[in-house]
Amino acid sequence: MKLYEYMAKGILLSNGIPVPMGAVFKGIDGVAEFVEKVGPVAIKSQVLSGGRGKAGGIKFATDPQDTITKVRDLLATEIKGCQVETVLIEEKVNIERELYLAITVDGSKRQIVLLASIAGGMDIEQVPEEQVIKRFIDITIGLQPYATREITRQMGLKGREAKQTADIMLKLYQIFRKYDAELVEINPLVVTQTHVLAADAKMTLDDEAAFRFLPDVPYVEEKTAVEKKADDLGISYVELDGEVGVMANGAGITMATLDLLQHFGSSARNFMDAGGGSSEKATAAALEILLSTNPKALLINIFGGITRCDDVARAFVQVKNALDLKLPVVIRLVGTNEDLGTAILREQGIESFKSVEEAVTKVISLLKGGGADVHNS
Ligand code: GDP
Ligand code: MN
Repeated sequence: MKLYEYMAKGILLSNGIPVPMGAVFKGIDGVAEFVEKVGPVAIKSQVLSGGRGKAGGIKFATDPQDTITKVRDLLATEIKGCQVETVLIEEKVNIERELYLAITVDGSKRQIVLLASIAGGMDIEQVPEEQVIKRFIDITIGLQPYATREITRQMGLKGREAKQTADIMLKLYQIFRKYDAELVEINPLVVTQTHVLAADAKMTLDDEAAFRFLPDVPYVEEKTAVEKKADDLGISYVELDGEVGVMANGAGITMATLDLLQHFGSSARNFMDAGGGSSEKATAAALEILLSTNPKALLINIFGGITRCDDVARAFVQVKNALDLKLPVVIRLVGTNEDLGTAILREQGIESFKSVEEAVTKVISLLKGGGADVHNS
């Protein structure tokens, strides 16, 4: 579960990590009074996606009237498809330097890792590797003060800057453990003339530990409306921002389909793992969900084991007739009852593919060709 910035900052603050003075608003009530009190402010839209700054989700203002106008603007915008419902208004910090600090789990090493860099403020993925310090933490020993001193020395920090940063590292590790986090990230950790403080904060908590942290942390709904609908039907469904709606039957084949789409020059709008052994009715409901997000094309990739190809074919025919599909659709169908499934489709004038590469390149050529009707043989 991801937390909003203001929630993560609440946790940082209550555990001893300084953050800018701020308050949360869902409208303009109280905004003017707050600005009168703190002076120039940063207005930050509260969304779960990163990179808000670049997406226009952060504005600065110096007086109450200007702040109110900008709060109204932000509350009327969408950032990466999410409506802004809350803003965090903070005193504007005079930044001397921007650092990066995070603690997460390295899955392949099966260890907690602390990441630190003096190149904070931008996407950490873009920072050259040699500028990011990686320190693995033995969970049985924890993060020791001497280690934080070594890290700040490696970062080239000195004096109070080094001392305060080291102290923040220790506290961040305590928070990471206490809240069963998968990620705690401060980017930027800013250095001012007097303080080192968290100007931004991200926290992702481990869903499996929700029973432990939920009484202390507010529940955050991360799913989109469509994802919730799929969830209710017991279907794994994920929204992305590409072109092609993808249905496949199993986690491995679904991931491989996404890779192939990417490889041949397209991308997925969303994907659905229809699972093994889905009935005709469940498959039809799943297809309707996929299509409700208006992908530019649909790719169905079925390797029938328990899933029967004839069920998938019938489900598709049912949905096609009910929804009067206009988008290009390509179906790859092999496995159990393949001949039956292929025949059902052929009766409707729909060709199916045996090779997944052929199906993927076909869907891409249909997309590039400006979109045909359901692919007829
Ligand atoms: P993100 O784009 O979602 O990561 O949002 P951040 O909260 O990290 O803000 C992006 C950038 O805006 C920071 O790296 C800062 O350069 C700038 N910024 C944010 N808050 C302040 C502030 O209080 N004062 C100043 N001067 N800059 C800020
Ligand atoms: Mn940031």
